[in-house]
Amino acid sequence: MYLKLAEYVYCNGQILFNLLSGSRYELNDVTAQIVQKLDSGMDIETAMRLYSSADIDSIIKQLIEMEYVYILDTPSLVPKIQMHNSTVLTSYLRSPFKLFSLTIELTGKCNMDCIFCNSSNLAYRTCGCKKWHYDRMLSDTQWKDIAKQATELGAKNIVFSGGEPMLRKILLFDLISYFRSKNITISIFTNGSLLDKDSLQFLAKNEVTLNIQILSSNINNYRILTGSEKGYNDISNTISYIKSLKIQHNIILLWNSINATEFDTIRDALGAQLRYIDCYLYPSNKYHPKTLREKMNNHIPRLIALDLNNLEYRKNFNMCFFGSIFIATDGSVYPCMMLRRESFGVLGDKQLYEVFLNHEYAKYWNLSNFKLTQCVLCKYAICCNNCRAVECAHTADITTTSYCDMI
Ligand code: SF4
Ligand code: SF4
Ligand code: SF4
Repeated sequence: MYLKLAEYVYCNGQILFNLLSGSRYELNDVTAQIVQKLDSGMDIETAMRLYSSADIDSIIKQLIEMEYVYILDTPSLVPKIQMHNSTVLTSYLRSPFKLFSLTIELTGKCNMDCIFCNSSNLAYRTCGCKKWHYDRMLSDTQWKDIAKQATELGAKNIVFSGGEPMLRKILLFDLISYFRSKNITISIFTNGSLLDKDSLQFLAKNEVTLNIQILSSNINNYRILTGSEKGYNDISNTISYIKSLKIQHNIILLWNSINATEFDTIRDALGAQLRYIDCYLYPSNKYHPKTLREKMNNHIPRLIALDLNNLEYRKNFNMCFFGSIFIATDGSVYPCMMLRRESFGVLGDKQLYEVFLNHEYAKYWNLSNFKLTQCVLCKYAICCNNCRAVECAHTADITTTSYCDMI
């Protein structure tokens, strides 16, 4: 009898990935060796003689149960499923400046004044809101022109970030209406405090996804962090209304030294069924939550499901940067909202396609984990989403890895 890995199973030597279900099965040194021998054609009886038969029996049972393998009477070839004809990958190869996702920052200002937030150019957090300082800002007309250019370049997904994007509500809603008329999907990072009922009805009608930052479920902590007495009650009512309108939303919990004690209780207070994203203030910020350092460095929440659509991308590209750019309030174009060490150009002076023509963005798009100094050695390199922006802020080197318990 022979064992073959199924055509939809990808093995990187240490982990088996089921590309249909997104599940993974981790192997130790011995089981990895056994599975490799069996998949290469060794028959099961020989393997049982060479290795512990109890070990082999148990691995085979588990792999069959998880539908990772076939048991065959004769040695056979099971060709792997290939997804090289994926539209995104082929269109990238044909036209490298094809744009899929654009993040737009309409303002670096915010109506809130969180004690930890500053407008330095160094990232102290991953994706989300942060204040930024600008000496100039693009006009409404310039943004509308950029929106048109982005559509012509093929953008399929727009993200609005800030500061607080609702501070430019009229422009924001005009751009949303335009993008939705082109069938482009929209998401917004917001602190939620300016979302009144009319605004939420507009966002619901346009099927916008909201990423709402919540700092606490404790009125005292909320007051210390934001200076606002009624902030928590307001945001809590807003979330209830968002739920009643069935607006897609994620709750971003930004952990810092003031709210760190709520880590184990906040989900119960806000509602266990919501979709939460944990985000941390990194050590360059004086409110960094030292007691949550272990959680911040935990690699497990960064691991994503590998599937037939993303496998080839993950081998070749950086999943934060690929197909995506960020445009700041003043028109500067960067790899992402928190990574601003190098601008690809300034819109207003240049057109969007001109920024792509210099190909400077390509080194970021192509920065897969296999090009990172330490990650390349890690068994999770193929399925790990790590933040290059906080790394760059810490070491000034985009290829290092400081915040990971695998190192
Ligand atoms: S809501 Fe966001 S952008 Fe506004 S002050 Fe707080 S952290 Fe900064
Ligand atoms: S070493 Fe790199 S690839 Fe591995 S888990 Fe850590 S950040 Fe992810
Ligand atoms: S590198 Fe990725 S995770 Fe980090 S801020 Fe940029 S887009 Fe967000």
